[in-house]
Amino acid sequence: MNGVLWKLIAVWCCALLCVRAQDTAEEAKEVATATGLQIESQESEHFVFLWGAPRAAGQPSVIAAEAAWSEFSKMSGVTDAGLLFGTRKPLVGLFAAKTGYDKYADWYDAKYKPYPGFAENVKRAVFWPQPTPRIATFTHLKPNTPESARNIFAHEIGHLLVMRWKYHNNFLPPWFEEGFACWIEAKALGRNNCYCFSGGYGDRATRLDKINDIEWPKWKAAVAQQVKGKSDKALRNLVPMPLSDLAAPEMGKAWSVVDFMASQGGEKLLLFIEKFKAHWPKDIVFEHNAAKAEAQEKALNEVFGKDFDSFDAAWRAWVLKTYSMTSAPVRK
Ligand SMILES: [Zn+2]
Repeated sequence: MNGVLWKLIAVWCCALLCVRAQDTAEEAKEVATATGLQIESQESEHFVFLWGAPRAAGQPSVIAAEAAWSEFSKMSGVTDAGLLFGTRKPLVGLFAAKTGYDKYADWYDAKYKPYPGFAENVKRAVFWPQPTPRIATFTHLKPNTPESARNIFAHEIGHLLVMRWKYHNNFLPPWFEEGFACWIEAKALGRNNCYCFSGGYGDRATRLDKINDIEWPKWKAAVAQQVKGKSDKALRNLVPMPLSDLAAPEMGKAWSVVDFMASQGGEKLLLFIEKFKAHWPKDIVFEHNAAKAEAQEKALNEVFGKDFDSFDAAWRAWVLKTYSMTSAPVRK
């Protein structure tokens, strides 16, 4: 290749990087103007961060967000983030307090209009993953600390990843979506401290005092104890459960099933997501129904050659063989 061509390529790459950086700065400026907040922006390899809090408070979250992507990439072999995120890096927003978070929700709602009542929904929660139209996740300090925000972002990026893989603009099975998010959080950080499941989104999501900061080996041991004592809920009974009913024992099983699927090969885990989305009923219905269970069982069959019950049996055998039972039981 001649020198001129190389120069042209170099200029084009620089221009592209400049446009991206400008894009990020402009978006931060736009949010600052709309919310009246002081906003700083920062870009990592796969994410754009908006700091409505001291920049230093966000640094653990930068590491956690990239660690979540890296675990996904290692598991799946997917290295092109564009396959999930398109051409724009997802926005990750951390605000100093609830008021900033609420103002940001209003900005997002006014600009992107995801659905009627969006801002109200977001304001009832303390963190949020939004898969479309602008992929974003955000939370705030007080009561979160920089350390708990780190877990929240690893976890919420887990939500975004499962939402965005073969995006289908519909609901996901709560057990799987939450299990996947917990699993990515634990893979990235070695512990779980984000519990959107216990009571679901909304005011009950703040019940963080009940269970917090569980080291993954301890939770694995608790899952193994459940299996040994035959006290775990059967997969076919876990599948219909709403988010608000999923508590620590069910969630332990849910992320462990994801762990088992990943152990069979990351491409199988991704294929399971792709298949259940393909078989998902076309109507957008929040509640569980028979068609949703059928979509998941069909996907299990196609990818793993098993129905709910035989898959459950294989998972139980794997847990007993793989998870150590020597750690102290999980705190509840
Ligand atoms: Zn969650």
